[in-house]
Formats: sequence, structure tokens, C-alpha cells
Amino acid sequence: MLYEKLFSTYDPQDQISLSEPSIALLEEQKKSWRQLSDGYAALSFVRTRELPCNGFSVRLQFNPRRIVSSGAKVDAKSISERKCFLCVENLPPDQKGILYRNEFLVLCNPAPIFAQHYTISNIKHLPQAIEKFSATLFSLAKDFSPEFTVFYNGPKCGASAPDHMHFQASPSEIIPVERDAEDAARRAAIKTVKGVSVLRLKNYGREVVLLEGKDSESLNALLLEFITAMRRVSSSLEEPMLNILCSYRDGMWRVIIFPRRKHRPDVYFLEGERKILISPASVDMGGLLITPVEKDFLSVDAALIENIFKEVSAEQSVVDGILEEL
Ligand SMILES: [Zn+2]
Repeated sequence: MLYEKLFSTYDPQDQISLSEPSIALLEEQKKSWRQLSDGYAALSFVRTRELPCNGFSVRLQFNPRRIVSSGAKVDAKSISERKCFLCVENLPPDQKGILYRNEFLVLCNPAPIFAQHYTISNIKHLPQAIEKFSATLFSLAKDFSPEFTVFYNGPKCGASAPDHMHFQASPSEIIPVERDAEDAARRAAIKTVKGVSVLRLKNYGREVVLLEGKDSESLNALLLEFITAMRRVSSSLEEPMLNILCSYRDGMWRVIIFPRRKHRPDVYFLEGERKILISPASVDMGGLLITPVEKDFLSVDAALIENIFKEVSAEQSVVDGILEEL
């Protein structure tokens, strides 16, 4: 079954970026898979607008096809009753992928937010859980570099398949936080742990922690420590709520972490006209907010976005506590 779904196999020994076969895959799939070509045709009609907020700016994207993700029911009952759309045996007949390190499949996302948008899903139906697969986050970021950034949504804060382990990839620096993370005026160095720099972004309306370094093993160890500290602070055995972006450039990895306290804001659950369909995940926390409903795209203002970030981001004092433990 898996073999029939393969467009190609990626071997890191080939010394090429994973972006090369991935771009070739996308071009092939646009020709052979109708749902995907429709998805990309629709992407050319999305509208965007910049919204200056207090201390930062966000970009809104009116993207009606994202209703499948933003409106997805992710409670345990709904998940157990639907067919998993990332399992190899359930993929659409025309969908193909690139086998990555014998463990993951690089797939084109049929409801794209970006001009190239990939889902990298495990070939097995294993729950979304970063600790088991954090090493893959670093290898993927390097193998996809410099063209793409890899991101992860926790099972309780943005993943629309919380039951099937997956990452996503977007073109580098398209998510606003990636550029903002390079702005010297915003970067506050906290400490250095085993060669890894730990920083925070100032005046950003939500909590952001950066881990930067040249050694993926030390970075991975510190990321796992961060998650352990977050779990301790939240006194819960479940995976703490996190969105993570990871990129690799000039020999250095950068991990951007959004610690969360809530998935969907209260306005998401209002009825009728008052409901705002914003379901924050990595991309939205990173400053590119997807609004699948036109009324929301036209009406949301800075105060609403500031409130949503405040509501769903971990509190500053909680992040202070986590960082002290590193
Ligand atoms: Zn599955």
C-alpha cells in the first residue's frame, strides 16, 4: 500500500535539499490530483490585510477553504468516529508522497495557506506527540532548508489530526514571527544552556521563546527540558499546549515556541453573528491569522486580536517559571 503511494524516496545522503523533490511533487500533484489543483486555484483568490496592533503587526488571510481545519471538531468522540485522513490507506487515490527517512511521508496539503504547503505525516497511525519525534523536527528543518520552515501543532492546540503524528512545512520567512525573531530590538537574551541561546521576544502581545544553536542534540535536549518544565508548571501529565516552528540557516537552527494555555478563544464559541472563526495554531500565533469567514476578515480589529493572543498564550509569569527551570 505504502509503495503505491510513493512519488519518490528521500535519502539525506543524496546531499540535496528535501525542497527539490517536494517542489517537484507539488507540480506533479497539481496536474494529477484535482482536489489539490482546486485548492491552489482557490489560493490565488485569497485576500490579505495588514493589521497594526499594540507593539506588533499581524496579517489576516481570508481563506474560505480553511474552514475544514479551523472549523474541525477535534474532541475525542468526533476524532474516533471519523476516518483518519492522514493514514496511508485513507489518502485520496491520486495523492502521492515522498518517503522521508523510512518513517514519514511528505504530502501536499489540499487546503493550502501558502504557495507551497506540505504535511509531513508518520507512515503509522500514532498520536500527535512532540517528545517522541522532536529529533525529526530538527532533521526535517535541516533537510528542508533553506527554502522551508517546519512547524508543529500540539494535539490540543491546533492539530486537526490529533490522533496522527504530523508536521507541516511552509516557505521560509512567510510567517511574520520568523522575521520578527531577527529584529535585534525585539530580542531579549535570557540565558545560554550548553551552547544553546534562550531568548524571548519583547512587546509582542503573546509569549514567544526562541532556542538557537548549532548542535541539534543540545537543542533537542533543551526543547525536551522546556516541555518537561512546562508539564511540571501545569501539573498535568498530558503534553503541554505548544506550537513550534523550526528553521535552519547558515549552520544554525532556530526554534520558535509559543507556549499556550488555551486552544480556541471564547469568541469562537459564540453563536450567530458574534462568533469569530479564528482557531489559533502555529501559523496564526506566528502572526498570519486565517479567517475562513469573510465577515470576520472584514471586521476583526486590533483590540480583538490582542485579546485573543492574551487569552490563548501562556501567561508571562508562567513562562518566567519555565525558563527559570532550564
Ligand atoms: Zn491515521
